[in-house]
Amino acid sequence: MAQTLPDLGDISDATLSETQEKTIGNKFMREVRMDPAYVDDPQIADYINSLGQRLLGALEGPSPRRDIDFFVVREDTINAFAMVGGHIGVNSGLIVLTQNESELAAVVAHEIGHIVQRHQARMAAGMGRSQLTSLAAMAIAILAARAGNQSGQMTEAAIAGSSAMMMQNMLDYTREHEREADRVGIALLQRAGFDPQGAVTVFERMLRANRLNEYKGAPGYLRTHPLTTERIADMQGRATGGVFSMIAADTSFEYRLTKARLRATNGSPPEALAAMKQLLAERTVVRPREEVYGLAVAQYRSRDYEGALKTLAPIREGVSHPAFELIAGQSKAGEGKHAEALAIYRAAVKTSPQYRALAYAYLDELLDSGLASEAIAYLNERLRSMADDSRLYELQARAYEASGKPLSQYRAQAEAAFRRGNLPAAVEQLELAVKLRGNDYYELSSAESRLREMRRLLENERAAEKALKIS
Ligand SMILES: [Zn+2]
Repeated sequence: MAQTLPDLGDISDATLSETQEKTIGNKFMREVRMDPAYVDDPQIADYINSLGQRLLGALEGPSPRRDIDFFVVREDTINAFAMVGGHIGVNSGLIVLTQNESELAAVVAHEIGHIVQRHQARMAAGMGRSQLTSLAAMAIAILAARAGNQSGQMTEAAIAGSSAMMMQNMLDYTREHEREADRVGIALLQRAGFDPQGAVTVFERMLRANRLNEYKGAPGYLRTHPLTTERIADMQGRATGGVFSMIAADTSFEYRLTKARLRATNGSPPEALAAMKQLLAERTVVRPREEVYGLAVAQYRSRDYEGALKTLAPIREGVSHPAFELIAGQSKAGEGKHAEALAIYRAAVKTSPQYRALAYAYLDELLDSGLASEAIAYLNERLRSMADDSRLYELQARAYEASGKPLSQYRAQAEAAFRRGNLPAAVEQLELAVKLRGNDYYELSSAESRLREMRRLLENERAAEKALKIS
């Protein structure tokens, strides 16, 4: 089948506008979120976002872009990438490779550098028409493949690329771009209180991994970000020049916990269990709390609930951590002790109300235990401070369904879809809600006005995508 290549006449003449970038970025992110490699784990997602926000907080100058979000991809290859529209992805392989938080922060700060310098938009402007067309064609083929339209050679080419995120490999930054991103990155590291030496050591580590070939696919990062010994020498100069370079930066517990969690959730349960046991066997003097936690997670995944609780006991004494309480509650529920699981969650959500993963598990357990009205009350409380949380709306829909309130259920499903960036699904749910009518006039009229609003947003989105020829 001869697939017609998209005409990018509208954007090849000039650099992408920020609105155009956003439209393309949103479209991509909807696909990326459906990719099995996308890490939806709220504990890991919250960590990488808080690290990113800490670096963004250090940006200076006249209104640089701050609306950047961060996500983790479960891939052993060492890579991190910035996508058009302000989305930064970090592979789990890179996180595990780093030896301290400053090293991870250095890579993330470098990607922020590419975004604030608008390198992708500038590259799009500098690209010839054929390059830009093939870039867009590739993107569209990937989207089509994901949507199940498996036709044409473009789709095969896209599948060979294996993942929407591979798209990034088509964007090779120039040395000039790299110098700029390094400059911005190291300044951010220093101002955010990280050790700028992290930039030097992590890039050296990547070069070494590449040379020894001990990590498969190390070139992933090195291909898109040309890394030379000259670049490392430059960074060395910048890193030692700063005022903060003598201050040793702390590595946060959340960083170590994230690494342990990534290891404990990687591969099959027996593989993860063996890996965590081996790691702890090497700790002859001190058993780090995060690694003990990792063992409990691996035991839980292997359905050894009793073992997990036994492993957790010493680290839950005194000042526990919400992650420890969460896996303890899940292990109790695994044993069928639902009242005990609820008791653990009730206490933990009081001390750590902002820990999303805990709130989800608590609500799940309430709903599984048939306590829908208690779940609704807690949801209303949480939604006041976490109004953008799609999962809370999904749980709310479940709670309304259990309470026999279909109109409210559809409305909650619409809000969840809207927050996942899926406007067509939001409109569809609200249409179902309005069709039901029901006898609650207030509820019905709010659904009607929300439907009008969503339809308007959907129209705008379709117009923007049409203008960019990515619809
Ligand atoms: Zn780069």
